[in-house]
Amino acid sequence: MSIRIGNSCINCQNLQPNETCKTHGVKVSTSYTCDSFEMKTALKKDLNCSSCARFEGPTCANPKKATAGMLCSHWAPQNAQA
Ligand code: SF4
Ligand code: SF4
Repeated sequence: MSIRIGNSCINCQNLQPNETCKTHGVKVSTSYTCDSFEMKTALKKDLNCSSCARFEGPTCANPKKATAGMLCSHWAPQNAQA
């Protein structure tokens, strides 16, 4: 299985309020992910540098250009460790 920073159960639409995965029927953690990951629709609308864990940090891919409203392919959810 691939290891990815941007996709985790916390931003997957299959995560249910009781921290159970709707797809697999098991308890999951915010640090898990899998190949059935589906990005939450609400989060898709809010993808930009201000919601990126890397914003103003050492792992930002575009530190000179990063600003609210911009987005690049290195975006990571704020619960992730960038
Ligand atoms: S489908 Fe995969 S990524 Fe989504 S909540 Fe279930 S285990 Fe997590
Ligand atoms: S430029 Fe990319 S990595 Fe940097 S804060 Fe914006 S989305 Fe994140």
